[in-house]
Amino acid sequence: MADIGTSMISRLRPNPAKLDLNMVHARFSHGLCSLNMLKVRNDLMILPVAIEWKSDLSIGQEVKSLEIPWEYLGQEIKDRGSYLLVLTLEREKFIEIGRLGKLMFQKGYYIYVGSAMSNLRARIKRHRQKRKKQHWHIDYLTHVADGFFSIPIRSSQRQECEISQSLSSIIKSGPSGFGSSDCSCLTHLFYSEKNPLQIEAFHDVLQRFRMRHPF
Ligand SMILES: [Zn+2]
Repeated sequence: MADIGTSMISRLRPNPAKLDLNMVHARFSHGLCSLNMLKVRNDLMILPVAIEWKSDLSIGQEVKSLEIPWEYLGQEIKDRGSYLLVLTLEREKFIEIGRLGKLMFQKGYYIYVGSAMSNLRARIKRHRQKRKKQHWHIDYLTHVADGFFSIPIRSSQRQECEISQSLSSIIKSGPSGFGSSDCSCLTHLFYSEKNPLQIEAFHDVLQRFRMRHPF
């Protein structure tokens, strides 16, 4: 069980892109390291630079110094935003999902999209707990899942429906109405036979939403 931060996501990218200024800014603005940087900004001199990372993983000659938009960061990296939960089932099973009834889930990876516009970390922590009062559809799935990890997408904007729509174009949709009782989305649950972290289009969606509101 772990949160997957932006730096880890970028390391997992099959073909890391050349770092540009926006990408570096986005990384500063979304990781937990950004919170720590804000805390120590008056005690440390922080000099961010962008380097070129070539496709053969060697480092190029070009180095650019970057500015850190402190004011923007202070506003944007509060503990709020959207999150993805990636749950695994090691074998297919029928699961009772509240009012949706008993549904068959194939073995594989399930990606749930939610948001918490305050206390995002506490919300994710709650999802991790297997024993809890089952309130949302996802609670029935986390209760029986064999594996779990979370991917926070911090933002001042509620993006869960747009993220869901983007995921629906790259991976299979899960049961209709799952987690989408209060919106017009078909579902907020998606399915993949393979680990979505091994799907480049999945990383592209994550990066797009993580970089959308910064700058
Ligand atoms: Zn929605």
